[in-house]
Amino acid sequence: MEALDERAVRQLQEARLREQVDYLWAHSPFYQRKFRAAGLTPDALRTLDDLPRVPFTTKQELRDSLRAAPPFGEHLAAPLSDVIQMQASSGTTGSPSYVALTRQDALMWHESSARSLFACGIRPGDRVLHGFSLSKGFVGGLPIFQALQYLGALDIPIGADGGVDRLLAAAFDLRPDAIVGTPNFLLHLAEAARAQRGRDVRELGVRRLVVGGEPGGGIPGFRHRIQHAWGATLCELMGGTDLAVIYWAECDEQSGMHMTAPDFIVTELIDPDSGQVRPFTEGATGELVYTAIHRQASPVFRFRSGDHVVVTGTGCTCGRRQPKIRCFGRTDDMLIVRGVNLFPSAVQDLIEAMCPTVSGQVRLIADFEGHSTQANLKLLVERAGHEPSDLSLPALRQAIEDRIRGALAVKADVLLAPHGSIEKPGAAKVKLVLRAMPVIEGLL
Ligand SMILES: [Zn+2]
Repeated sequence: MEALDERAVRQLQEARLREQVDYLWAHSPFYQRKFRAAGLTPDALRTLDDLPRVPFTTKQELRDSLRAAPPFGEHLAAPLSDVIQMQASSGTTGSPSYVALTRQDALMWHESSARSLFACGIRPGDRVLHGFSLSKGFVGGLPIFQALQYLGALDIPIGADGGVDRLLAAAFDLRPDAIVGTPNFLLHLAEAARAQRGRDVRELGVRRLVVGGEPGGGIPGFRHRIQHAWGATLCELMGGTDLAVIYWAECDEQSGMHMTAPDFIVTELIDPDSGQVRPFTEGATGELVYTAIHRQASPVFRFRSGDHVVVTGTGCTCGRRQPKIRCFGRTDDMLIVRGVNLFPSAVQDLIEAMCPTVSGQVRLIADFEGHSTQANLKLLVERAGHEPSDLSLPALRQAIEDRIRGALAVKADVLLAPHGSIEKPGAAKVKLVLRAMPVIEGLL
């Protein structure tokens, strides 16, 4: 499926799109209403070129729908009695949202996730240490377990919420071939092994690190540090609760994530401001919009994901023919600094690239209401353990500010924090943006 040529993919997608539209028209009052409001009936939605006629579906619409008709919203398009699995998403506003799966939907999730894990280098027979959270109903938990089992690999089901001690004990007892988790957490695990057990995780012989859930894995400097800490190859993956578990995954080339499920999801790239569709050409940027084309219980149609990506390539030596991307931020994380759109991961990228002059740790201090400010961007940057003697601290601060301004067109005020003073995320996702300046002694 991943190696099919463009024409064959299009044929398959259009056949399934027609089936999906007919299915929604028959089973989903939510989408029937949406299509009608746009003056569309199923016979107007027959090819991929017809897609842009349908208005986007937003996260807010899905939240409203969930509230209006619990438990799975007005967009539930299958009988409740056919629902055999559900998952929760953390929800950026605090209230979780829920998705439902029929047997067919669950199979589709296993299939697309298994393809993705395979692309990232996991093979049948591998032992895989589970480093994502397992207990909260998120897709990084049970659905990854299911996908690994479907693939023929063995999940070691400890989970990030099982704690660093148990994960390390399992790692040294069971010698996993691969580990899945967030990039920050996997780095944390390697450091904890050294600090708490006096052991080097490189002696474990882990072959692959498969990371997702936050952007860090795609940042070259950060990737290098994690690979070095484990002596293993790192591949990144991406997905989400609304469509499936994982449907983007990096191959051995390590140059961006391929779409792995073109038979289940139609992906569009749009200009986030105008909503205009853009072609997937190398270097193009935009927001991803998804349409499920083989989904029964919680289908989404032209769903604005909020994931902002750059296309890193359109061909690959691995034989996969779907475009490759990197995600550089989410709409929810974006700050607007004096009118300039800024993704925190872009700042992290720049600071990482300055290692070993700095430690690589950085936090954006957004001590203002909402997401927009007219003030300079406040940055907390952690100093390196061993600073170069030829650079004074004021000069280091200046160098960082110049770099931020040069690359991102934003004026930054940098505060330097002592080495090791910025709190590490542990098992949680890293929060690059803080709403207040943390209390740290020795800020300069
Ligand atoms: Zn590839």
